[in-house]
Amino acid sequence: MERSFSATQARRDEEKVAVSVSSEYLQTIYQRLSLITVLLPLLGTIVAIALLPFAPIGISEVALFIVFYILSMVGVEVGYHRYFSHRSFQANKSVQALLAILGSMAAQGGVIFWVAHHRRHHQYTDQERDPHSPHLHGDNFWGQLRGFWHAHLGWVLEGEISNSALFAKDLLRDPLISSINRLQQIWVLLGLLLPAMINGLILGTWIGFLQGLLWGGLVRIFVGQQVINATNSICHMFGSRPFQSGDQSTNNVWLAIPSIGQSWHNNHHAFPSSAVTGLEWWQIDIGTWFIRGFEQLNLVTNVKRPSAKMITNKLELPAES
Ligand SMILES: [Zn+2]
Ligand SMILES: [Zn+2]
Repeated sequence: MERSFSATQARRDEEKVAVSVSSEYLQTIYQRLSLITVLLPLLGTIVAIALLPFAPIGISEVALFIVFYILSMVGVEVGYHRYFSHRSFQANKSVQALLAILGSMAAQGGVIFWVAHHRRHHQYTDQERDPHSPHLHGDNFWGQLRGFWHAHLGWVLEGEISNSALFAKDLLRDPLISSINRLQQIWVLLGLLLPAMINGLILGTWIGFLQGLLWGGLVRIFVGQQVINATNSICHMFGSRPFQSGDQSTNNVWLAIPSIGQSWHNNHHAFPSSAVTGLEWWQIDIGTWFIRGFEQLNLVTNVKRPSAKMITNKLELPAES
C-alpha cells in the first residue's frame, strides 16, 4: 500500500530515537500553551451562555457556529487524520494547504504535532506507549475513571510531545506543510477573527463582533475539542467492536454526526488506511461525503477503501454459545 510513512521503518528507527521529546523546557512551554488552548474556549463558552439573557443570538451566530464547525472538523478529520496521518487518498498541494489550515483552526495543535501523536497512537494502540489510551490505569471503577480522564483531556494537559522526527518525518521534510505548521497560532487567530468580523459586518455592531467571536470561534472550538477528544476516550471504551482490530477501539453511533465519521473508530482501527470509515450503508460518515465531493471535482484521487473480502476476513467471529 502506498504510504510515505512506513510503520516498519518507524519501528526500526525507534530503537535509536525515543517516542517522545524529553526536553523539560519544551514540555513546560507546551503544557502552558495546552492549558490556555483548553481554558480559553471553556471560558468563552461560559461567557457566551451567560450573555444569552442580555444579548440573544440569532440566525447569523447559529450559521457561523455550524459553518466554522464543519470547516474545522473537515480540516481535522479529512485533513489531519485521513490525509496527513494515513495518506488514505491523494491530494494536490492547494488541497493539502487548505486542509492543513482548516485543521489548524480547530486549535488541536499544529498538523505535524497532531500527526505524530496519532501515528504513535496507531502503532501502540492501548499499550504502554499509546499517548492517550483509557486502558492503562487499572481495571476497577477508579482505574477506568482515571483512564477516561487521561484519554479525554489529561494527556493534553500533561504536555507530552510525540517525537515528530520519528513519527512524522515525511511532513517535517515537506516545506509547504512545515511552513503552515509554524504559523499554527495565526490560523487559530484567523479562525476566531473571521466569524467575529463576518458577524460584526452583518449586524453592524460591536456586540455582533463579540457574538461572532464567541459562537463561531470559542464555543465552536470548545465543542470540536470535546468531540475529537471523545474519540480517544469514549471510542476506546463504549460501543460495538465488529472487527478484530487487536485493540479496544469501538464504533459509537451517537458521535457519528458531530465527529463527521471519526466515531466509526473500530472500523478505522481495522482499516486505518481507508479513506472511508462508515463501512455499512447506515453508518453516516460525513467526512467521506466531502472526500467523494473533492473526488468529483478532481481535487483528490486514489481514494482508498477496503474490499468486501478484506471486510469479511476481519469481522469478529460470534462468541460460541
Ligand atoms: Zn483510536
Ligand atoms: Zn487514525
